[in-house]
Amino acid sequence: MANQYSFSFREGDGKNKALLGGKGANLCEMTQIGLNVPAGFVISTETCLLYQEKQQLPPDLMDEVKQQIALIEQQSGRIFGDAHNPLLVSVRSGSAISMPGMMDTILNLGLNQHTLAGLIAQTGDRRFAYDAYRRFIQLFGKVALGIADEKFDRPFEMIKNRAGIKADIGLEASHLEEISELFLEVVRTETGSEFPEDVYEQLSCAIEAVFNSWMGKRAVDYRREFHITPDIANGTAVNIVMMVFGNRGTDCATGVGFTRNPATGVNEMYGEYLTNAQGEDVVAGIRTPKPVSELAQEMPDLYQQLVALRDKLEAHYQEVQDYEYTIERGVLYCLQTRNGKMNAAAMVKSSIEMVQEGLISKERALLRINPELLEQLLHPQLMPDHAVPVLAQGLPASPGAACGACVFDADTAERLGKAGHAVILLREETKPEDIHGFFAAQGIVTSRGGKTSHAAVVARGMGKACIAGAEDIKIDVKLRHAIIGETHLREGDIITIDGGNGTLYLGKIPMIPACFSEDLKTLLHWADEMAQIKVYANVDTPENARIAASYGAMGIGLCRTERMFNSSERLPLVIEMILANNPQDREHALNQLLPFQREDFKQLFTAIYPHPVTIRLLDPPMHEFLPTAQELENEIHALKHYLLIVKAQRVTLETLNNPVSALPAPFAQLSEETVMAAIEKKQLMLKKVNDLCEVNPMLGHRGVRLGISYPEIYRMQTRAILEAAALCIQEGMTIRPEIMVPQVITVEELRKVKTLVLEAQQWVEAEYGLKLAFKLGSMVETVRACLRAEHLSEVAEFFSFGTNDLTQATFSFSREDAENKFLPLYNESGILQDNPFEVLDVKGVGELMRMTVAQGRKHNPYLRIGICGEQGGHPASIRFCHQIKLDYVSCSAPRIPIARLAAAHAKLLDKE
Ligand code: PEP
Ligand code: MG
Repeated sequence: MANQYSFSFREGDGKNKALLGGKGANLCEMTQIGLNVPAGFVISTETCLLYQEKQQLPPDLMDEVKQQIALIEQQSGRIFGDAHNPLLVSVRSGSAISMPGMMDTILNLGLNQHTLAGLIAQTGDRRFAYDAYRRFIQLFGKVALGIADEKFDRPFEMIKNRAGIKADIGLEASHLEEISELFLEVVRTETGSEFPEDVYEQLSCAIEAVFNSWMGKRAVDYRREFHITPDIANGTAVNIVMMVFGNRGTDCATGVGFTRNPATGVNEMYGEYLTNAQGEDVVAGIRTPKPVSELAQEMPDLYQQLVALRDKLEAHYQEVQDYEYTIERGVLYCLQTRNGKMNAAAMVKSSIEMVQEGLISKERALLRINPELLEQLLHPQLMPDHAVPVLAQGLPASPGAACGACVFDADTAERLGKAGHAVILLREETKPEDIHGFFAAQGIVTSRGGKTSHAAVVARGMGKACIAGAEDIKIDVKLRHAIIGETHLREGDIITIDGGNGTLYLGKIPMIPACFSEDLKTLLHWADEMAQIKVYANVDTPENARIAASYGAMGIGLCRTERMFNSSERLPLVIEMILANNPQDREHALNQLLPFQREDFKQLFTAIYPHPVTIRLLDPPMHEFLPTAQELENEIHALKHYLLIVKAQRVTLETLNNPVSALPAPFAQLSEETVMAAIEKKQLMLKKVNDLCEVNPMLGHRGVRLGISYPEIYRMQTRAILEAAALCIQEGMTIRPEIMVPQVITVEELRKVKTLVLEAQQWVEAEYGLKLAFKLGSMVETVRACLRAEHLSEVAEFFSFGTNDLTQATFSFSREDAENKFLPLYNESGILQDNPFEVLDVKGVGELMRMTVAQGRKHNPYLRIGICGEQGGHPASIRFCHQIKLDYVSCSAPRIPIARLAAAHAKLLDKE
């Protein structure tokens, strides 16, 4: 059918989320599997795009909407706009991707002076009818007419105060009637027009408002933050659904639930409800809801129905569901369901249990978890034995610990967060417009609301620590302070929170790193079984190698040997080696460094045994080990001053006929000669620094160029590697070190290095009386190396893409400067989708890699190829590496769990 704008829940394709949005598709699906869903229809996302293009609703849309409303009228027996038996509807947004709270919703639409009378007649409940009416005027006023909430809050509070009523529930029918009148007056004053009485005019305005909210600031910010591009979600659908009421008396209720506990993943009834309330009351945190377990006592029959609903939802969707329901006069309706957003620990646990329960396959168990989510599991926890007293207690809404300065509004959180401060956002309750504060904050605390309040749901989705409903905290945003019992908390005071048990503390509490759960080990073990591409670690010290091994690294893909030079007993030797003016002096310093390196390599081999270890020969320009010229000049200047003092001391003592030995010991040693020797040494170093100075050192004398100029450096390193291997072999291990050459541009460089390694091999074999095997490989991080890959593979036995440098070379962006100069602007303005130093640039750098793989394997089809740039730990980049058939990715230790899961995803998505 041409131009079908809308689909009734009975006909819409429940799988087509792109067209019907997630919520709409689910409402169709739930209707079609026989769940009790109120009648309704969806206006498609395509219609939203038509609206965005023309900035008006398609002219024939409302005719179709009328036909759909007629269908709801048939099913419900109520009539839209009827003065006796009115049908009311809700109008909700819903795009292909769930964006909780980002777009608008209007409830009770269809009320006007006539239908209001009908609603009173129909229900016999004036209070209920006026309550529905005032809610509708406010929501419609805000969403469709753009009137700020405060305009309605003022008359509302005024009536409450006058009547001496604290909670909304205490308002009587007459109060609500008066409030409705005042709200109509607000609309008149703010818009200069009457509130629309025509129910179809109300409906078309509401549809437009929902379409407009797709391009609202909140929604646009959210999509940017979460990289929701048009191919993921394009436009919002509009869901128009018959209203059912949870606020028509004490046999009515409304609630939200998760099919499993979203904080732990445990398979149990979970959720909260309120009797005699509308759905928004639960999520907004205006009243503190009751745990669902209480429903078992309050309405046992309905509780059983709810258990059945939960089981049916999970069995059908094969995924944990986050659902909403309403009980109207003893009838349970399911209003919405979507895949539940849970923290990483809960995702992992539920994956394991759903496989064990036979609900899902291992493949699905892996695919349902976004690899990046695992990062949360490496989050710190509070030191368990700290003795800091609890300042406030709330609900444990999202686990993890966080520490920072408390702030009371989202804008301040954003400002301080951007300036690099850790902040905790403290609010009475949060709203969707606070989202930028969530992004900036380390953790969130609210003084009202439950575990399914906005704050809790959003924080959990982001993996940020959150405490909800800490009711003892009295926040005064205007005075920028909070009072908790006797304690006065000012903005900027440091607090610590534990979202795992809902406690808040004053001051900073030490934290410990998180540890791997058995569930996570099982999951990652399944991932390893599925994956094709291996996950190695970039580590430079034996200690990090042990951590990487505990995270499941299958080898070391990059050991940057220069990082072993930085400790206090080694650096002077490195400096001595650099200052040496001839090969003999240089070798003398190198010989003293050799035992350190040999011992480190031996420990690396042992830590990750029996997996392979790739060691890269010295790479950075030598000036990096020396102070800067400026520092040296300052020191020389100071020493020259000091020389004058020492001279003055001597003259003083001579004048008084006192021997130098009369001075305290440290001064006695500081003769003028000693100070002059120090000055000379510094001057020598300064000369060296000036000699080594390059305009662009990252493109200068570094990498294999150093090995060619100073072969004794690479000779020492290869000897240390091979000796370490020999020592391990003597202990019974089978070791075959992989020696990697950085910054290669031509096979001739590799040939020269190979000669050095072969000499070292001969020496070590003779010295230790054993046979050694090694592999020599090349980093591929220059454009020329990519272009000459076929030739490099004549000597190189493996390649490792150094995509940090290769990205720098491909873009001609300095990797030192781009990220804090112009790259953010490039990302914000959409010129570049991602930061190419973080996410592999598949279109550019990726093409070079693809070509290199093809050329390299022409000569040697079994050539092992990996990646060791930062991008190697990024899931989308891992997928690309899998596609171009790399053998391994190598990334920093904390990224290893993420990379292992991403590697399994790459393989599984390939199959799909
Ligand atoms: C690279 O360039 O990608 C790489 C791993 O080497 P480094 O970052 O040490 O230059
Ligand atoms: Mg590099």
